[in-house]
Formats: sequence, structure tokens, C-alpha cells
Amino acid sequence: MNRTGPWDAIVVGSGLSGLTSAAYLAANGKKVLVLEQYDVAGGCSQTFRRKNEWQFDVGLHYIGGVKTGDISRVLKGLGLHDRIDFVEMDPDGFDTFVFPDFEFRVPKGWDNYLDRLVETFPDEEEGLRQCVGTFRDVVGDLAGSGIPGVDTDLADFVARAPNLVAWGMRSITELFDECGLGERSRAVLTGHAGDYATPPSRTPVVLHASLVDHYMQEGAFYVRGGGQVLPGHLIDVIHSNGGRVRTHAEVASINVVDGTATGVTLSGDETIEAPIVISTADIKRTFLDLLDPEVLPDGLAEIVDGYRMATPLVCVYLGLDFDLAERMPNTNYWRHSRYDSEEYYDFVAAEKFDPDPPVYITSASAKDPGSTGHAPEGCSTVELMTWATPSLEAWGVESEEAAGKYSKQEGYLAAKDKIVEQLIDSAEEILGELRPHILWKEAATPMTQTRYTQSTDGSSYGIELATDQFGPLRPDFKTAIDGLFLAGVSTRRGHGIVGAMNGGVESASAVLGRNLRHEIQGGAVFGDISRLTAGGEGWDALEACRKLQDKSARRIAAAAV
Ligand SMILES: Cc1cc2nc3c(=O)[nH]c(=O)nc-3n(C[C@H](O)[C@H](O)[C@H](O)COP(=O)(O)OP(=O)(O)OC[C@H]3O[C@@H](n4cnc5c(N)ncnc54)[C@H](O)[C@@H]3O)c2cc1C
Repeated sequence: MNRTGPWDAIVVGSGLSGLTSAAYLAANGKKVLVLEQYDVAGGCSQTFRRKNEWQFDVGLHYIGGVKTGDISRVLKGLGLHDRIDFVEMDPDGFDTFVFPDFEFRVPKGWDNYLDRLVETFPDEEEGLRQCVGTFRDVVGDLAGSGIPGVDTDLADFVARAPNLVAWGMRSITELFDECGLGERSRAVLTGHAGDYATPPSRTPVVLHASLVDHYMQEGAFYVRGGGQVLPGHLIDVIHSNGGRVRTHAEVASINVVDGTATGVTLSGDETIEAPIVISTADIKRTFLDLLDPEVLPDGLAEIVDGYRMATPLVCVYLGLDFDLAERMPNTNYWRHSRYDSEEYYDFVAAEKFDPDPPVYITSASAKDPGSTGHAPEGCSTVELMTWATPSLEAWGVESEEAAGKYSKQEGYLAAKDKIVEQLIDSAEEILGELRPHILWKEAATPMTQTRYTQSTDGSSYGIELATDQFGPLRPDFKTAIDGLFLAGVSTRRGHGIVGAMNGGVESASAVLGRNLRHEIQGGAVFGDISRLTAGGEGWDALEACRKLQDKSARRIAAAAV
């Protein structure tokens, strides 16, 4: 099928939210064009290679829900579930929290988790049972009732989801206080809170409970071959159902005439028309840059401008000359220098660097020993992450105007070097000496994230996942402008791989006026799955997602002949 425009729908951005949305629309008969400004599709789920020897993941290190949960359902609805392999992390300790004087290994299964918490803090048994019980009740209610929308009958919702209503949007600090928990058990309960990067005083109970549940239900997994495998398969669905993914295509404006979206104009002035536009680009850029202020409903620009972005991440990528699996079990380490995680965010609020930042340590080669692509034989990769202020001044970037050229500025290089060495110091405390073994080293900062995905303040989690910006308080998939829809991390299904993919399904549902989630749960598989070709021996996911502008141009030219 070699259909070109006119398009039924244009999706701005090829992260997992955009590709999932486009795949569901294409598989349901819509002619979809995905436009991606960078030259590799996949957004945060990308991998990148160095010297043809090392492969690193940007933003997919571990996920849950791949057997029967949300991610598996999203993949099943497109016929992809059996085409993608997942490798499980240690079920008895997929996350390992390292504190100054003890370690805690997080097992899968709510009962195992609670048992280990009680074993570690026997004096707090009652409070821990109350706290974990509340998490479970809240996610149970959420699964039964979903996120309320404008049409929801609130009295009915309160009756059906009493725990969600009572606790969901309150902070985990309030819940911990109510349960009388001490500093150390709170630190353990929030040991992996870098997965959403919000201080406990602003973290909604429903967010935290859902994150824990995501891993408790069936464990934590890595995608065999690396994160790029997911966008590679979604692109296959889009292309085999008559859609197109076009890279190197930056959307400069979303066009609206008489209150209705009419398409987009690319940087370079090409205008592409479609009656539906779905933006998965950063929410502030969507409303404040891509749309003419004149077309926005009164007050919307101020609301969007007022959103706080989630704290951005900093990542160090190392290639090592030995097999790290000899020193590291199949776990993620989270090293914490202190128990009160609120303090981490005091530094962020003060636009300063933490002198002893938390560090998350994960290794694709240790998680996925069966794949050959991560590192040369006998070698390994490791990724070290923390979260930090996005302040240009703190990062030594001279000015907003000079921000585009940040990477060569002396102040920036000094700030980056400092944090890189701090993270390596921390990793060495857990993994032993690394420095003499480093064959490849590079780092990504909030500025790097902005450069590659055009996100505000380098955030990869969208607007802060906080009590005043969560669930129904996040932007809906349908906007006030006819034909303009949203998906992506700032919308109602939230951030992360699961949030982005769920949001993709919701936005496609909003466009089609159907509830695709219910249809998938009922066993529906959309599109012609016999046409799918991605995967298998010799298939290279990164190559499948690269430089699609050339291929699109060739296909369009061929179709025109
Ligand atoms: C370091 C790091 C580690 C992470 N680890 C995990 C993890 O282990 N597990 C997990 O679940 N989540 C993790 N995440 C989060 C997760 O990767 C993201 O939340 C999710 O992938 C975001 O998907 P998205 O589609 O909403 O946005 P993105 O992936 O950011 O996609 C948006 C896309 O839109 C494009 N775009 C923007 N503006 C334009 C424009 N004007 N024109 C055309 N294209 C445009 C961007 O280039 C980008 O490709 C991590 C993220 C990072 C950065």
C-alpha cells in the first residue's frame, strides 16, 4: 500500500505516545503521517550507538506490565505482543536501594514486598500494613473506575472508588504521617521515586501507588535488544497500514482556521493539510509556540505557562572493558546519601546542585546478556542517572540566546564534568573500581534532552507529576480547538513508557470517538497483522527508525510515477 496524502491525521512527534497513537489510527483505517524533528524516530525510547561497538538506552531502562498488564494490552491490540521479547530482572530484587547503613531489595508481588518491609522495620508493622494496603486499595479503585472526566457522574464515582477519592490526590507525605512511618521506612518506600522525580510532599498517592503496582504485578522487564525495538515495531504497523513516519520534519506551526485545525507547517515552509492534528510535542511548546496565541481560548496561555515542569534527568553512559554482570546482579541500584528525599528537591528549588546526589545505576548488558548489540564481547555498558536543576545559570550556560551553543561553553563543561565524576564516584562505591576500565564515557544533561526532544526545561516526564497537576488536572486528549488532540507525558495518562503508550491509545480513541481500551480488553486486534515484517534475525531496530525522510521522499516519488 503506497498511499500518500491527503492525510486523515498528522501526529507531531515520534516518541512512544505519538507512534502508539498513529499505529492505532493507521490500523483503524486512517491515513496517518507522523512528523519527527530529529533524524531517528522514537523520542525518549531511542537507543544510540557509538563507534559501532556500544549501544546505550536513552529512556527505557525497565518497565512492567508486559505479560498481561497495560503495555502487553497495547501491543496485543496491534498484533505485536508475540513479536517482541522481554527479559525479566531479578524477581527477588529488581531494584536495590543502597542507603548509608543498609540495603533493601525490592521483590515482585505486593505480599512479598510487604513481608520484606515488615521484616526490615518490624516496629512499624501496623503503619506499613496500613500504607501498603492504601496503595493497593487506591490502584484497585483506579483499575475499576479510571480517571474521572468532565462527563463523569461524581456521586457515582465516589461510591465506586472511595479509596481513590479519599487518598488518590493527597500527598504520600500525608499518607506516611497518617501511618506514623519513620524516616528510614519512608526512604525505602520512595527509594525509586526518581522514576517520577517529584518530592514526596507533592507526590500524589495514586501516582506512587500506580508506579509500585506497575512492577509488583508481574515484575520488572527490559526489552530484549534495547528500547528502540518498540518504536521499530510501531513504525512497521504504521507503514504496513498505509501511514508514514517522516523524520527530519520539524513542525513550526499547527495551523488553525476558524477554530478548526487544518494541518501543520514545517520549518522550511512546507504546509501539510489534515483535518486532525495530534501533538505529542512538549505541552508548553505546543500551546505557546506552535499555535498562534489568537486561536487559544481565553486564559489558556496563562494556565499552560503556569505549569511546572518535572525535574529533569542527567545521565552518564559508560562502556567498560569487562563484563559488569560479574559484579552486578540483574538489578537496578539506587544509591541514596540521605533518608529525607524531600531534601533532594530543596536543591532543585534553590537552582543548585546537590553535593551528594542520588544515583540510579542500570546496565543493559547485565539485563540482556543474550543480546550481542550492547557492547563488544567481554565488555559491558552501564548507565548512571540522577535528577538536577534545569537552571541555565547553575549549568554555566551563559544566556538563553547562547543556550543553543551550550555544549562548548566552559562553565557548562565544568558543571557537567563535576556531576559526571560525582556519579562515577557513587557507582564505584557499589560496583568497585570503574575508572581504569572505562573505554567510552559521555553524558546527557537537561540541555541535551531539550536539544534532542525540544522539551521545556529538559523534562522527559512532562509537567511535574504533582498533586495539583495530576490525573484530571492534566490536559485532556481532546482540546478546545476542533480537530486538535494531544498525547504525551503531560496528558492524563502521565509519563514513562506505559503512560506514553496508554496516552497514545487514549488520543486515538478520542479521535475515533471510540473506547479502544475497552475494545482491546475485549480481544480486538486492529490492522492487517499478516503485513508486519519487523523483528527476527538480522532486523536492526535502530536502522528501521533512522533517516526516514529519505525513504519517505523516495516512496512518495515512486507513488507519484
Ligand atoms: C534518561 C531517561 C530515563 C528514563 N527511564 C525510563 C524507564 O526506565 N522506564 C520508563 O517507563 N520510562 C523512562 N523514562 C521516561 C520515558 O522514556 C518517557 O516519559 C516517554 O518515553 C516519553 O514519551 P513521549 O512520546 O510522550 O515523549 P518523547 O519521547 O519525548 O517524544 C516526543 C517526540 O516529539 C518530537 N518533537 C518535539 N517537538 C517537535 C516538533 N515541533 N516537530 C516534530 N517533532 C517534535 C521529539 O523530537 C520527540 O521525538 C526515561 C526518560 C529518560 C530521559
